[in-house]
Amino acid sequence: MEGEEPQPAWGRLDKPSYWLSQPARPARAPLKENVSADFAIVGGGFTGLWSAIRLAEAVPGARVVVLEAREVGFGASGRNGGFAMTMVGRNLHDLVRKVGPWAARRIHLEMVAALGEIERFCADEAIDCQLTHPGILTVSNGPEQDQRIDQDLRAARLSGLDDFREVSGPECWEMVLAHGVRRGHFEEHGLLLDPAALARGLRDAAERRGVEIYENTPVTHVDTHPYRVQLATPLARVDSRQALVATNAYARVVPQLRRYLFTVCAYVTLSAPLSRQQWERVGWAGGMGIEDKRVMPHFHRPTADGRILWGGRDAPLLAGPPDPARDSDPRIFRRLGETFRATFPQLSDLRLEYGWGGPVGGTVACIPHAGWLERGRVLYALGYSGHGVGPSALMGKVVRDLLLGRETALTNLPLVTRRLTPLPPPPLQARVLKLSQRVLQRSDDQGGDAGPLARVALRLLQ
Ligand SMILES: Cc1cc2nc3c(=O)[nH]c(=O)nc-3n(C[C@H](O)[C@H](O)[C@H](O)COP(=O)(O)OP(=O)(O)OC[C@H]3O[C@@H](n4cnc5c(N)ncnc54)[C@H](O)[C@@H]3O)c2cc1C
Repeated sequence: MEGEEPQPAWGRLDKPSYWLSQPARPARAPLKENVSADFAIVGGGFTGLWSAIRLAEAVPGARVVVLEAREVGFGASGRNGGFAMTMVGRNLHDLVRKVGPWAARRIHLEMVAALGEIERFCADEAIDCQLTHPGILTVSNGPEQDQRIDQDLRAARLSGLDDFREVSGPECWEMVLAHGVRRGHFEEHGLLLDPAALARGLRDAAERRGVEIYENTPVTHVDTHPYRVQLATPLARVDSRQALVATNAYARVVPQLRRYLFTVCAYVTLSAPLSRQQWERVGWAGGMGIEDKRVMPHFHRPTADGRILWGGRDAPLLAGPPDPARDSDPRIFRRLGETFRATFPQLSDLRLEYGWGGPVGGTVACIPHAGWLERGRVLYALGYSGHGVGPSALMGKVVRDLLLGRETALTNLPLVTRRLTPLPPPPLQARVLKLSQRVLQRSDDQGGDAGPLARVALRLLQ
C-alpha cells in the first residue's frame, strides 16, 4: 500500500550469509587418509587461502594442505561487507598513534600494493567476485565525528600520505544523498567485492598451484614435536613440517591466545533490489563504499545485484569462542533498520530482506598480528577486527616470509614486531568487554559526551 513503510520480511538463507548462499561448486572432500605436508594451514578463510597461495608460489613443489572445518569462506571471510580497504586497525589516526607516522606510512603503502594485487589476481585468475574499484568515502554524522575526520586528515599529512582527500558536505551529498552527513574524506584505493565468491575463487586458484584443500575437516588437536607438527582431524592426521593457525576468532580455543583474543559479533543487513526510481532518489552514481565515524561504525555499499548492504553498529564483545547462536540477532537487525531508515528516509518503501552476522577476532589494539606459538613450527595470524578483507592479503605475504625464515621488510612491520596487549584475566575479562561495549555504544547513541566512563574509554581508544 502506498506510503506504508514496509516491514523487514527476513528472508531465509540456507547458508550463514547471502554471499555464501549463492550457487557454488560442491565442497571439497574431507581428509580421509593420513598425509605428510610441508605446510599445514588450519582455516580456509582469506588468511589461510592467501597464505597457501603465497607459499605455493614461493616454494614450487612444496606440499601445502589447507584444513577447513566447514567450507571455504564459512567464517567472517564469506560473511563480511566486502569492503577491501587500506585500513589496518581502527583508522589512520589510531594507527599513527600506536605505531608512529613512519611505520603507519609503511603499512599504508603495503596495503595500497596489496589492494592492487587483489585486483590483478582476480583479473588474472578470472575470479568473478563482482570486484569494483570505486574508493571509500568516510563520513561524519556529528560534531564528534567531524573531529575524527580531522584527526585522520592530520594523521595522513603527518605520515606524508596524500591519498586522503577532504570532502565538503555538499560534495558528499553529490556522491550520495544520505541524511545527516556533514562532511568526510575520500580515499580512492578501496575495492568492493563479493567476499564468498572471492574465497571460492582463491580456493580454486590455490588448487591450480597444487595446494590440497580439505573441507568439513576440523582440526581437533595440534601436537608439536621437535621437527614436526601433527594435526588431528576426525578421520585422519596431517604430519607437517610447519603449521599456520588461521582460524580468526575461533583461535580462542588455543590456550596461549585466550589472554589476547576476544570475539566480536559483527552484523549486516541487505535490502531488496532497488528500482531505477529508488536509485535515482539516492544518487550514488560512483557506487563507492561508505563508512561513518561512529566509534562502532556503520558501513554501507551498493551490491552488484542492485541492493544496499547496511551493517555495523552494535557489535557485542565476547570473552569466549564464536557462538553460532549469535549469528542472527533480530534486535540488532531492527536497530540497523532504524538507522538505515534515518539515513535514507527517501527509501521508506524499500524493504530490508536479509540479515546475518559472524565472528571476528578482536585484540585490544585492533592491529592484526602474526606470531609464533612454537618458534619455527606453529605460526598464527589473526586479529583484524572489522577490517580484514584487504589486510589478510598482506598477511598472506607476511606469513610466507615468516614460515620460510626470511627477514624482509614485511617481517619488520608492526604486524609482527608489535606485541599483543593482554586482556584482564578470565573472571574480569567478560565484564570488562561487556562494559566497554556498552560504554562505546552509548557514546555513539548519545552523539558525543556520554559521561566520564565513556570519555576514559574513548581516550584509550583514540
Ligand atoms: C558481518 C561482518 C562484516 C565484515 N565486514 C568487513 C568488511 O566489509 N571489510 C573488511 O575488511 N572486513 C570485514 N569484516 C572482517 C573480515 O571478514 C575478517 O577480518 C576476515 O574475513 C578474517 O579472515 P580470516 O581468514 O582470518 O578468518 P575467517 O574468515 O573467520 O576464517 C577462519 C576459518 O577457520 C575455520 N576454522 C575454525 N576452526 C577450525 C578448526 N578447528 N579446524 C579447521 N578450520 C577451522 C572456520 O570455519 C573459518 O572458515 C567483517 C566481518 C563480519 C563478520
